Amino acid sequence: MEAQKNELLQKFELYGCFQCGKCTGGCPVSLKSKLNIRKLMIEVLLRENLSNMIQRDELWDCTTCKTCTLRCPRGLEPMDLLIGMRALSVEEGHIPKTIIEALEGAYKYGNPWNAAKNKRSDWANELELKVFPQGGKAANLYFVCCTAAYDTRVQNVGRSLVQCFRQIGYDFATLGNDETCCGSEIRRMGEEGLFEMLMEGNIESINKYDIRSIVTTSPHCYNTIKNDYAQDGLEVRHYTQILAEAIEGKNPFSGEMRKVITYHDPCFLGKQNGIFDEPRQILQSIPGVTFIDFDRSRENSLCCEGGGGRMWVESSDQGPRLAEIRVQDAVDMGAEILATACPFCLLTLEDAVKTTGNEEKLRVMDISEILVEVL
Ligand code: SF4
Ligand code: SF4
Repeated sequence: MEAQKNELLQKFELYGCFQCGKCTGGCPVSLKSKLNIRKLMIEVLLRENLSNMIQRDELWDCTTCKTCTLRCPRGLEPMDLLIGMRALSVEEGHIPKTIIEALEGAYKYGNPWNAAKNKRSDWANELELKVFPQGGKAANLYFVCCTAAYDTRVQNVGRSLVQCFRQIGYDFATLGNDETCCGSEIRRMGEEGLFEMLMEGNIESINKYDIRSIVTTSPHCYNTIKNDYAQDGLEVRHYTQILAEAIEGKNPFSGEMRKVITYHDPCFLGKQNGIFDEPRQILQSIPGVTFIDFDRSRENSLCCEGGGGRMWVESSDQGPRLAEIRVQDAVDMGAEILATACPFCLLTLEDAVKTTGNEEKLRVMDISEILVEVL
């Protein structure tokens, strides 16, 4: 462990940390978890026993929202230190059981939901989509996402997006059953080797079909294909960017919706990639909509706790879930629809609507689903 510790010290420049605490101050889980990212920086530096540190349950409480890294005045990367510690934890076999299952699913079937690979495109059976491996030709690849492909709730987002793309004349094909998990969450769970395997599989497909442009359902796929794969000459966009561009001219979504709508910024879209305006532009363009923003929005948005592998592990903390706080804030503001643009946010927020008993007051919808209602 001594060698690994020195590697962490060097790689994450832990000597540069002056313990200002701005990282912990912005951490959405710090108030309810034992996880204290500032303390972690100094503990790795000073403590002898890294083996004990990597066994702590709270390492799995981090949602990889990246707020700590974005706020560090020294330009350090506390989030990546934490992911590095998870990687050691995975190497040593100290992994929550549900995370092991997700990793095994990604390895065996190409998705962390342990669903059959040959059923990946079943969600689109009736849609007659073009599929690259079946000879389909298109200017853009629609990268669907494991959750949109298999989760029965999120499948509706994929179907809605197909309707939206067709409405604006956006030419796309999918990889069908050949699409493999993008690896975003796998990397953030600390399984770098498996992430690389998944990335290589997808890059092979991208090259095989000479794909130059990708649109994603999920901000997690968007972030990892754009920033982790970082392929020269490959344009990667989130679907909200495509749709915001399409409504700039003659808006093809002109139906009315007399509702009060607020928007939850997914961390991987907003904080991590600066895409704040496009989702709002889309919602504000809908005739009849009254759009209101949360107090904690954009760069200060509250995380839903769905990222960084948290879809597959229960947190060690006891406090209210952040998604429940978010839902209550939306209800208190008088919102009727809580919009988002991420499969994980959709699932965590919708669950929070149920656990807080707000089903009669608030509907959680993906932006694509809202647009289909105003086609
Ligand atoms: S914000 Fe940066 S310098 Fe300040 S305590 Fe956190 S890691 Fe250290
Ligand atoms: S990435 Fe987010 S949740 Fe994780 S330690 Fe940093 S601020 Fe906290």
